[in-house]
Amino acid sequence: MLEINHLRKLFPASAGTIWRREEKFVHAVDDVSLTLGAGEIVALVGESGCGKSTLALTLMGLEKPTAGEILLNGRDITHLHGAELKAVRRQMQMIFQDPYESLNPTMTIRQIVGEPLQVHGLAQDATEREQRIIRALGDAGLKPPANFLGRYPHELSGGQRQRVVIASALVLEPAILLADEPVSMLDVSIRAEILNLLAELRQTRHIAVLFITHDLSTIAYFADRIAVMYLGRIVELGRTAELLQNPQHPYTRALLSVMPVPNPRQKRARMILQGETPNPIDLPTGCRFHPRCPVAITACATADPAQHALSPSHWAACHLVASAELAPQL
Ligand code: SF4
Repeated sequence: MLEINHLRKLFPASAGTIWRREEKFVHAVDDVSLTLGAGEIVALVGESGCGKSTLALTLMGLEKPTAGEILLNGRDITHLHGAELKAVRRQMQMIFQDPYESLNPTMTIRQIVGEPLQVHGLAQDATEREQRIIRALGDAGLKPPANFLGRYPHELSGGQRQRVVIASALVLEPAILLADEPVSMLDVSIRAEILNLLAELRQTRHIAVLFITHDLSTIAYFADRIAVMYLGRIVELGRTAELLQNPQHPYTRALLSVMPVPNPRQKRARMILQGETPNPIDLPTGCRFHPRCPVAITACATADPAQHALSPSHWAACHLVASAELAPQL
């Protein structure tokens, strides 16, 4: 349904002195390719600042890509604007991280959820608009929906507010949800409810979800596939079970090593990465992960690793994957 090919988003960042300016760029998204099938949930995982959110904003047309292409049902939507872009946004909706910030406190829930219909010129008839608002609230798990219509965001809990955000997306009946850290601001007890809701929507509405998160444990048992992103690039991609059982990239292994395990008797060696994430303006040569990689070899500082396939649905970009030296060293 959604196909991203070699997408790049660079932001200009001048450096140097006032006498000698240097044109440099922040490499926010750098050669990312990914697909999202109908009804599929793909998790995009990586630490803050790795480019996940910029990727979502670029898909929505809120940032213009520097290079690459975005196809929606085979149609190139990379450079759309105006009415054509607006029509595409109806099919792809975003859920933002902070339900406290993304709802207008002066509007009632009816107005908030009804606003996208107004913006897109849909459901002009008042009865039809009300029906669509009620259906969206019900599908977002706010029951009975009529009880919420006249309320304001401050009268709701954090979980209910995030459900209102989801209802505002659902009211346009999109095919894809781009969920940017949708549960990270919520209490742990409510996170599972929102995750279950997204899983339910996939069943009932056949909605595809690109779930962006810095926390692998949130998504590990919920996504169909996981893409691990580091410094603007996807470094490992695979079906969830395959990737969790056989992680190959050292960065994926580090993320997995700090994931809590349900059995307290089961011990896992924690792999704590040393050093800071490199500056995305001055990227390291060779493999971008090499300054922090505990198993880097000489070639890592000069040669950019290719993607090595481990199965038809699992690959990792690391020199050691091909040479099979990785497992004994970690
Ligand atoms: Fe580490 Fe080298 Fe693999 Fe990069 S290519 S992840 S530096 S071993």
